Amino acid sequence: MNIRNLFKLSVAAVAITSLSAFSLSAVQAQTPAAPAAAPVAKPKVEMQWLGQAGFRITSPGGKLIVIDPWIKGGPKAPANYKADLASIGKIELLLVTHAHVDHLGDAPELAKINNTKLYGPADMVTPLILLGVLPAELGHRFNKTGAVKPLPGIKVTAVQAEHSSLLVLPNPTTNKPEPHPAGEAMGYIIELENGFKIWHMGDTGLFGDMKFIAEHYKPDLVLIPIGGNFTMAPEDAAFALKTWIKPKVVIPMHYNSNPLTPGTLAEFTAAMKGSTIKIVPMTEGQTVSF
Ligand SMILES: [Zn+2]
Repeated sequence: MNIRNLFKLSVAAVAITSLSAFSLSAVQAQTPAAPAAAPVAKPKVEMQWLGQAGFRITSPGGKLIVIDPWIKGGPKAPANYKADLASIGKIELLLVTHAHVDHLGDAPELAKINNTKLYGPADMVTPLILLGVLPAELGHRFNKTGAVKPLPGIKVTAVQAEHSSLLVLPNPTTNKPEPHPAGEAMGYIIELENGFKIWHMGDTGLFGDMKFIAEHYKPDLVLIPIGGNFTMAPEDAAFALKTWIKPKVVIPMHYNSNPLTPGTLAEFTAAMKGSTIKIVPMTEGQTVSF
């Protein structure tokens, strides 16, 4: 092999190494004045917070993924999406963690608008179909440690979340709200085309198998609830991250939405003090890229 080929090889190796690290140190909010173009174009993951547990994710392959979209009723959801659900864009993967209104939200409507399947806990999707909320062909039922490959290069694995799931719908005759059992709440490991893994924890309390999930799936980015009352509070979330999960990056969620999620970003940041895990605090509607 001559020197020239050797040089080409080492340049390729450097490129692969930097890709596999996902350049997480370069996490930054999108601003109109972008920095000078990087020498090597890297695939990007774009994350927009829709408020509460809702995220709009653009994959490196340009696929639009939406999870837990509480838009019309969500107090902090972006106003343009509230005015027109279709303005979210052409959703190609729609995920819901459980049946509570701040997670199921507008998902059935978005499934119909986009003619795309709603992926969710098996026993949440079933009543949605049987009660006429979701057309049968737009529901995909799966369950914990089950995985789906809904788009080329994208894999979603359902994982444990320590939470409940009740579907409340108005009775079509009396219009009185009625409860329906809706299976168990889940979290998701979302693996994108470039191998980047996001763990959307859903709503969850603290449980020891967070350690197992982190070791088994090795998420790069964790979306973790910190609001308390229904989920982990900031101190418990910080404990799980520092002791068991140890991801590269974390985005706190499920707070700042109503009086029943009193945990604050300041409390979370204080509880994470001394950790090398990068915290990316977001405001509702903001987009960050990795
Ligand atoms: Zn919730």
